[in-house]
Formats: sequence, structure tokens, C-alpha cells
Amino acid sequence: MIFRQLFEPQSSAYTYLVACEETREAALIDPVLETVDRDLQLLDQLDLALRCTIETHIHADHVTGAAKLRHATGCKAAVPALSNAAHVDIAVREGDAIAIGMLRLQPLHTPGHTADHHAYLLDTPGGARVFTGDALLIDGCGRTDFQNGDSATLYRSVHAKLFALPDDTLVYPGHDYQQRHVSTVGQERERNPRLGGAKTLDEFVATMAALNLPRPKKMDVAVPANQGCGEPE
Ligand code: FE
Repeated sequence: MIFRQLFEPQSSAYTYLVACEETREAALIDPVLETVDRDLQLLDQLDLALRCTIETHIHADHVTGAAKLRHATGCKAAVPALSNAAHVDIAVREGDAIAIGMLRLQPLHTPGHTADHHAYLLDTPGGARVFTGDALLIDGCGRTDFQNGDSATLYRSVHAKLFALPDDTLVYPGHDYQQRHVSTVGQERERNPRLGGAKTLDEFVATMAALNLPRPKKMDVAVPANQGCGEPE
């Protein structure tokens, strides 16, 4: 397997390149519009063919690079079916694995940050990785105060679907604001200050209700753009 973790500094967003070494087919999880040229260069350097872009959810803080990448490479845009987005080629559902060459990405419906949110589990002989989007961040989690977010739902998603994975599953989040790159399910289950340890559902709901976060600056542009895979109107 070929794997790269890529970063977009304005939104502190991670994009993940996952590719099959045998077939040279690649996918980009959560590509960002501003870094499409970098991603295309990297695909070229590594001699990979981009087969699809895959969204974890409809983002509110950045515009997806899906449309621009599709125009450049002919790749397909995979978006959760629950997003009800336009211009989607592959409607993602839990239970329907996404094939990238010999690799299989398993979508895990993990609502709470948004109602459409899916994490992706990639189990390979070298070990398992889970791309947790904004459901579970390193020592944190995504906000739950818009886009049908719901803190009790997020608590249940993380505990039932992500903390249920083996301890040594690597956790690759959708964002990190402090230059951290990777964690494990065991570490997050043990010491995530919001969701881990002995934190109860009620404690989590109270923590999230007290956050009072400002609206994301790009929300009014990003959400409608992402509901069309980033295609111009
Ligand atoms: Fe998000």
C-alpha cells in the first residue's frame, strides 16, 4: 500500500492519499480545493492513477477539491448517500466497501458531527487504519452545533463504531490544529479528554453545549459548494 498524509494549513485539514501498489490506483480522502495542484503533482510523482475522491461528510470549513480533481483526471466523486449532494458518482453507504485496486475501504456511519458523516476503515496485512474525519480527533472531536450535529449521537457513534475497533488501529483525523499526526484507538479510548476514559454521555453533552464556538468563516460558501461536490453552479 502507498499512503501519504497531506495537510492544508488554512483549515488545518488533512487529506489522505491511499493507493494500491499492485495496480497503481489511488484515492484521496477529503481533498481540499486549494491543494489540488499539489495532490496532482504527487500522484504524478508516484505514478498513480486517481480513481476516486472520498468525502467523510459535507465540510463547513473548506471547499472540496473533488470537482477540480475529477475535471483533471476523470476520477469519480464518492460522497455519503446521506449527504444528498449533487454530481455524486458513488453514493457511500456503510456495508458497501470502496475498492481501490486490491484495497478495501469500509465506510462506518458515524453521525453526530454531521448526520451524513462516515469514517473509513482500511484493514491491510500491515495493520488497520481508520480515517475518522471529524467524528474523532486526536484528544478531541468535531463540533456538534450545526448541520444536524448532535452531541449524544456523536458520543454513541464514537463508542459503538470507533472505540470498538482493536487498540492498535491507527487513528488518522480530519483535522489537527497542533501539528499532531496520528493516534490509536487504544490511546483515544483511554485518554481522549472529551470522549475517552470514564467520560459519560451526560458529561460529553455538557462539555459540547458549553463550547460556544464561532461560525466557521467559510461556512456560507463551503456548505453549498460541497453539496455539489465543488462543481460551479
Ligand atoms: Fe467538519
